Amino acid sequence: MTDLDPISVNVDEYLGLNKYEVDEAHAHVTLADDPDPAEFAKLVRVCPAGLYKLSATGDRTFDYAGCLVCGTCRIVAGGGIVTTWEYPRPTMGVEYRYG
Ligand code: SF4
Repeated sequence: MTDLDPISVNVDEYLGLNKYEVDEAHAHVTLADDPDPAEFAKLVRVCPAGLYKLSATGDRTFDYAGCLVCGTCRIVAGGGIVTTWEYPRPTMGVEYRYG
């Protein structure tokens, strides 16, 4: 577990307006098998889609399905615990519906 304060911003309403074509056959973002907790905590904080999750029991999960392709996790942890970061394949990924 870490001592992260709860995230108080909720953008789910806006994210829910987007459309996603999830490429089930190819993850365009992947993580190390057992990511360093401190590095993972950074990603919990910076991912605008909230895809890096830390449970109350310390379980760490990540799902690329709602990725906004912003590249923030690549900047923060590319070459570290983010082992793959690619653009989604053609016709896959996010389609913005708001902004
Ligand atoms: S590219 Fe952006 S939205 Fe996608 S997982 Fe990384 S930080 Fe989250």
